[in-house]
Amino acid sequence: MRTVTDPDVAAGYAVDSSLGAVPPASFEVVRARDRADVVEVLREAGATRRPVVPQGARTGLAGGAVATEGSLVLNVEGLDTIEELDELERIAVVGPGVVNASLKAAAAAVGLAYPPDPASSASCTIGGNVATNAGGLCCVKYGVTADYVRGLEVVLPGGAVMRTGRRTAKGVAGLDLTGLFVGSEGLLGVVTSVVVRLVPAPDPPLTALATFGTLEAAAAGVVALRAQRPGPSLIEVLDGPTIDSVQRLADYGFPAGCAGAVIVQSDRPGGTAADVQRYASVLADAGALDVAVADDPQEADALMAGRRALHAAQELKGPHFTEDVCVPIRRLADLIRAGHRLGAEHGVDVTLSGHGGDGNLHPCFFFRLDDPDSRRRAEAAFDGLLREALAMGGTITGEHGVGSLKARWLPLELGEAEMTRQRAVKAVFDPLGIMNPGKVL
Ligand SMILES: Cc1cc2nc3c(=O)[nH]c(=O)nc-3n(C[C@H](O)[C@H](O)[C@H](O)COP(=O)(O)OP(=O)(O)OC[C@H]3O[C@@H](n4cnc5c(N)ncnc54)[C@H](O)[C@@H]3O)c2cc1C
Repeated sequence: MRTVTDPDVAAGYAVDSSLGAVPPASFEVVRARDRADVVEVLREAGATRRPVVPQGARTGLAGGAVATEGSLVLNVEGLDTIEELDELERIAVVGPGVVNASLKAAAAAVGLAYPPDPASSASCTIGGNVATNAGGLCCVKYGVTADYVRGLEVVLPGGAVMRTGRRTAKGVAGLDLTGLFVGSEGLLGVVTSVVVRLVPAPDPPLTALATFGTLEAAAAGVVALRAQRPGPSLIEVLDGPTIDSVQRLADYGFPAGCAGAVIVQSDRPGGTAADVQRYASVLADAGALDVAVADDPQEADALMAGRRALHAAQELKGPHFTEDVCVPIRRLADLIRAGHRLGAEHGVDVTLSGHGGDGNLHPCFFFRLDDPDSRRRAEAAFDGLLREALAMGGTITGEHGVGSLKARWLPLELGEAEMTRQRAVKAVFDPLGIMNPGKVL
C-alpha cells in the first residue's frame, strides 16, 4: 500500500469531478495495490473508527468520492487486473480499478462486448461503475451496470471479506446482496473484484442525426423511436442552447437556430443500414427539418462528434450545476419545457441534453463565480427541476448517484419510512458508520 505524502498530489485525490469539491483541512490518501491492502485499511479503520472514503478514478459527478474531514481516502485504481475472461461462460472477473474502456477492449478482442458505456468510459473504473450503477449512452438497448454484474467480492468495515452472487448464468441462492451493493456508493464496503456478464459483440453502429424547429417535435421523435422494433441502441437529445454551446466550441455542422437535435444509432448485426434508414423516416414524420444518415462507421462516428464534445462545451461555457433527472419517456417534452421555464423564471442560462431515449437528461444551470446572486438563482432553478421531475413520476438521479450533492433531496424521493430502513440496512454492514460518511443517507 502506498500513502500519498505530497500534499498537492493528495489534494488531487481529495476531490472528484463534482462542482465545487474542495479538500477538507485534514485527510489522508492511501493507494491500495491488492485486496490485502484493502483488508488492512478496513481492519485498522474499524479498530480506530476512522471514516473511509472508497475511491476509483474520481470521475463521479455527485461528490461521492470526495474526502471528508478526518477521513482516509482509499483509492483502488491499482487493483486493475482483468483476472479472467471466459468466452464459453461469457463472463469476466475484474479488479475494481480496471478502466471501463479497457474491459470493453478486452471483450471485443474475443468477439464479445461489455455494454455499459458511461461517456467517461475512457477513464472511469468498473468499481466506480458498480458503486454508482453507471449508465451511459447505450442503456436504451442494453440497460445499466446492474444488468451485467453477477457477483462481487467486497471487503467490509472491520476487514471481513464477503463474496456475493455467482459466476453461473442462473442462481437464486439467498438474498440478492449483489444487487444491494450495486449503486451503494461506497456506503457498505469496498468492492475488490467483480464478475461481469458479457454479450456477443454487435456490429459497428450506424448513426442518423435529425434537427428540429421545435422541442415538441424532437421529443415526439424520441417517443416514436422508442416504439420501433428492432429498437435503437442509442437515442440522445440536445436542446437548442446545448447545440449553441457545442457549436461555440467548433463547427459540428448543426444549422443555426434549430431548437433541438436527436441522434439515433443501430448496432444490430446485419441490420444497421436498414434500421437507421427506418429511424430517419420516423424522425422526418415527427417533423424533423433535416435528417443526416451515415453510410459507414466513419460517417457514423462523425455524426456523434458534437455529442461527444458536450462535456467540453459545457465546461467552456462556464460553471454550472449538472442535473441527472430521469422521467417517464412520455414526460420528456414536459421536462425540457420545465427546465426552460425555470431558467427564464430565475434568470439563469439552462441547457438540457442527454440520454433522451431513457428519459434521463443532464440539465445544466449556469452561473458566474463572481456573482453570488447568480449562483443562488441557479441553485433555485436546480432545486425546482428536481421537484418537477419527482412530480412527473421521475427520480433525482438516473445514473450519477446521490453522493453528497443530492443528499438533501433524497428524503423527498424516498420518504421517511424508506429512509429509516435504508439507514438500518447500512447499519447491518457498517455498524460504526465509518463507510463514506456524509454521503447519500
Ligand atoms: C465527462 C463525464 C461523463 C460522464 N458520463 C457518464 C454517463 O454517461 N453515465 C454515468 O453513469 N456516469 C457518467 N459520469 C459519471 C462517472 O463517470 C460515473 O459515476 C462513474 O461510474 C464513476 O467511476 P469512477 O471510477 O470515477 O468512481 P469515483 O468517482 O472515484 O467514485 C464514485 C463513487 O463510487 C464509490 N466507489 C468507487 N470505487 C469503489 C469501490 N471499489 N468500492 C466501493 N465504492 C467505490 C465512491 O465512494 C463514490 O461514491 C460522467 C462523468 C464525467 C466526468
